[in-house]
Amino acid sequence: MAAWLILLKNIMTDSPELSLLLDLLGKKEKLAAMLAPSFPIDFPFPDVIGKLKRAGFSYAVEVSRGAVETNKQVVQELKSDPLKRIIASPCPSLVRYIKAQRPELLPFLSQADSPMTASAKLVRQKFPGARPVFIGPCLVKKLEAKDYPDLNILAITFKELFVLFERLKIDGSTEDFVTNFDLLTAHTRLYPISGGLCQSAGIKELLTDEEFRVVSGLDQFEPVLDEFVKNKSIRLVDVLFCPGGCVGGPGIKSTDSLEQRRQRVVKFWVTYQSASKDNHNLQAV
Ligand code: SF4
Repeated sequence: MAAWLILLKNIMTDSPELSLLLDLLGKKEKLAAMLAPSFPIDFPFPDVIGKLKRAGFSYAVEVSRGAVETNKQVVQELKSDPLKRIIASPCPSLVRYIKAQRPELLPFLSQADSPMTASAKLVRQKFPGARPVFIGPCLVKKLEAKDYPDLNILAITFKELFVLFERLKIDGSTEDFVTNFDLLTAHTRLYPISGGLCQSAGIKELLTDEEFRVVSGLDQFEPVLDEFVKNKSIRLVDVLFCPGGCVGGPGIKSTDSLEQRRQRVVKFWVTYQSASKDNHNLQAV
C-alpha cells in the first residue's frame, strides 16, 4: 500500500487520544505510562514495560499503586462516621449511570480518587513534568480523564497499545526481560476482578458480611442498588459496571473467557507477589 494511503488510513482509524500520544512520543515528551492491573490479560510481564520504555515512555507505573490510595480513602470515609453509607466505585461508567439514572444515589457516591486519578497524582508528585498516560481495558476512562483537566491525563486502551507498538515497530527484545515498574505494588493487583476493592482494602476486618455487598454487571448491580436503598444496615457497595469487573472491559484485545482472564490476573499476582518489592511506602523512588 502506498505510504500516503497508509497514513490516510491511520488518520481515519486512530482515536484522537492515540493520535495525540503518537505525536507526543514523536516529540520526545516526558510521559509516564500508567498500566491498569488487568494488563496481564493482554501483555506478558515484564516484556510490556521494556516495550513501553523503548517506545519512548520515561516511566512505567502500576495503576494498582494508585488503588492503594483509593482504598485508604474509602476506609477513611467508612471510619469517619459509623453511620456513613457509601457506594464505592472506581468505575466511571457506574458514576455516569448513577448521575443519569439514579440521581437519588448521588449523595452516597464515595469521594475517593479512582485508581487512575490517584496514580496521576502520584506521577505528578514522583515524576515532575511527566504527563500521565493511562492504558487500560476501559473506554469510559477517556471521559473520566476529561473530568480532571488539571491532571492532564491521556487515556488509551490495551487494544490501542497494540496498535501503538505496531506503528512504532516495537517487537520483542531480550532486554525487556530485565525491566520493572518504576512505581508498583503487589497488594492491589486483584482490583480488576469483581470485589477487588473489598479484598485489598480489608473490608472484611472492618464490616460484617451483612454490611457490604460486592457486585458487577448491569443486570446484577441494579437490584443491589435497590437493596442498598431499602436496607440501611448496608454501609458499602463495591460495584463495577462490566460483568466480572474490569476483566470484562471492552478495551481488552484478548478473546479469552472471563474465567481465563481472571486466572491471568491472579497468576500475575501470585507469581510476582514475593519477587516484587512494594515501594508504595517509599517517600521517593
Ligand atoms: S468495570 Fe468496565 S466500565 Fe468500569 S472501569 Fe472497569 S472496564 Fe471501565
